[in-house]
This record gives sequence, structure tokens and C-alpha cells, in this order.
Amino acid sequence: MRAIRGATTILSDTPDQIRVSVKELLNGIVEKNKLKTGQIICIMFSSTEDIKSYYPAKAAREAGFTACALYSSLEPEIDGALKMCIRVMILADGDDAAEHVYLNGAKNLRKDITSILNIAVDGPAGSGKSTVCKEIAQRLGILYLDTGAMYRAIAYKCVKDNRDYGDKDVVKHIINRLNLKVEYRDGKQITLLDGEDVSELIRTPQVSLLASYVSSYSFVRTKMVALQREIAEKTSCILDGRDIGTNVLPKCRFKFYLTASPEVRANRRFDEDRAKGGKQTYEQVLQDINERDFQDKNKAVGALKKADDAIEIDTSDMSITEVVEAIIGKVQERI
Ligand code: C5P
Repeated sequence: MRAIRGATTILSDTPDQIRVSVKELLNGIVEKNKLKTGQIICIMFSSTEDIKSYYPAKAAREAGFTACALYSSLEPEIDGALKMCIRVMILADGDDAAEHVYLNGAKNLRKDITSILNIAVDGPAGSGKSTVCKEIAQRLGILYLDTGAMYRAIAYKCVKDNRDYGDKDVVKHIINRLNLKVEYRDGKQITLLDGEDVSELIRTPQVSLLASYVSSYSFVRTKMVALQREIAEKTSCILDGRDIGTNVLPKCRFKFYLTASPEVRANRRFDEDRAKGGKQTYEQVLQDINERDFQDKNKAVGALKKADDAIEIDTSDMSITEVVEAIIGKVQERI
């Protein structure tokens, strides 16, 4: 006989969320352990006290687990424990090694078996996110996922094909046929659009502003966020963007929000532009930064916002190394 364990977390305490999450968890365990219905002897759940709206055992019954004993219990509230968490133990016939399954935020409970580490970094343009994230990724041996590159690729597609990015239907058409892939070569993110490496082409000031515009369409975000979650679920990575901590990975344990004054950020972008042979004046760069800040903060969906549980770091007077050390220090403190 085997004792197979697992856990998941839910975002809100509703019967629907509980049904969906319990089904996902149990099916995940069945699949991973190649369990046949007759092998399951009993399923025992415990849930944290903040889950009140539905019995996980009832959800299991509804998900088709009808031939075994089911039991639900409540865990006492413990300081610092993971919130909104449903844990399960399944006793099943068979001698194979048990494959435990931890989903969503519950993965953080079992670093030993999942070893997936996600770090969310949000902040406005020029706050230092990408430089810092690249370095942290290298130091921790994890991937760096630049989510802005995905929105930039869509904007670039509009420019390249001379399509009207202001027309929702046009962008929908593009999104429905989008062939966008993120790959890693020598640890570096490569953005492939229709098979072409556009990693550098998406870095122009025009694409920056357009990316901010097209990323305000909800159908664009839905698709990109799904892709980002898929990568983060399978891969230890540090992700940077605008809504990682608030929307993409709301249960992420390590969230940071980088800021810096618009002038400092404009200076950084101005220097970068000059280094690449660009001709923008400082005033133009500052204007772009202010425009992008406004657009990013005022989007109906996916707006730039600090997650309540994110650690804010003002990078205005800090070196890259100081920011990197600050973030790594905080992560290691809590791992
Ligand atoms: O980070 P980066 O400057 O490359 O992002 C380009 C634009 O894409 C941002 O101005 C922002 O509007 C959008 N973006 C977003 N959500 C993310 C990342 C970027 O809306 N997670």
C-alpha cells in the first residue's frame, strides 16, 4: 500500500474554486501515479480554516471519486502557515514509489520534491528590472523570463505587418494566429516570432510605446499570462513585468517591486540608447518614460501596481550589485 500526498491552494473561498482545484489535484495524483479507480482505498483532506464554503471531500465525490472512503477535516490556524490550502493523503494499493503532487502556491511547501523557485519582480520602465533579474538568474542558476518581450513581440508584429494596433479586431486576428515562442540559448532568452529571432528588433522606442498600448487589451493579456504561468509552473525562474506579483503569480512567495524616480530612469534609458547608437534626446526619453508610466498605470487590466505583499526597493541611488544582493538576501532568508 502507498500513502500519496498532495496539496493545492485556491485564490478565493468559493465552492467553484474548491471543486476545480480538488479535481485538478486528484486527477494530477491519479495521472502521476497511474492509479486505477479500484486501487484507491481512501482519500483524506485537510484544509486551512480560511476555507469555509465547501467540503473538499464533497468536491472529490463530484469529481467522480465515488468508490472509496472520503474524509475532510479542518487544520488549526498556525502563524505563518500557507493560506487557503487544501492538503490530501490518498491510501492506495500497489508497491510503486508514491509520486506526491503539489500545485499552485502549495509547491512552496515542498521545495524538496518540487524544487521550483519563482521570483516575481515588477516595476515601471527603467527601474532596473531586466538588468537585475538577468544577474539574479545567473547567480541562482534559474531562468530569467522577460514578460515584456512577449508584449513587445505582438507590438512588433503590428509594426512589421503595418497593421492598425488601435483596431481591436485587427489585434485579435493577430493574437489568434500568433506564433510566438520563448527559447533559451546559453541561458539567454530568445524571442521567436513566426520562427524569426526578434529579440533585438523589439527593443526600439516605437515598439516600447506600442507594447504598452497593445498589452492593455484583455484578450492579449489572457493569452500572454497563460504562457507565462505555464513556463513558471514548470521552471524555476525570475519573471519581470508589471503584473507578475498581482496577477500572473499572485501566490508567489517572493515578490519585489522596483522603483526609481522618472529622471533616474530616463537617464538610464538615455545612456542605453546612446550606447546602441541611438539619437534620442534626454527630454524625448523622459517624455516616453512618463507616457509609458501613465499608460502602464492606467490600464483597465494588468495595470502596473505593487502587490500588497511585495517588497519595495527604490533603486534610484543603488548600484545593480546592491539591488541584486538585496533581493537574493531576502529570498535566502525565507527559503
Ligand atoms: O518591460 P518592458 O519595458 O519590456 O515592457 C514593455 C511594455 O509591455 C510595458 O510598458 C508594459 O506596458 C507591457 N508589459 C505588461 N505586462 C508585463 C510586462 C510588460 O503590460 N508583465
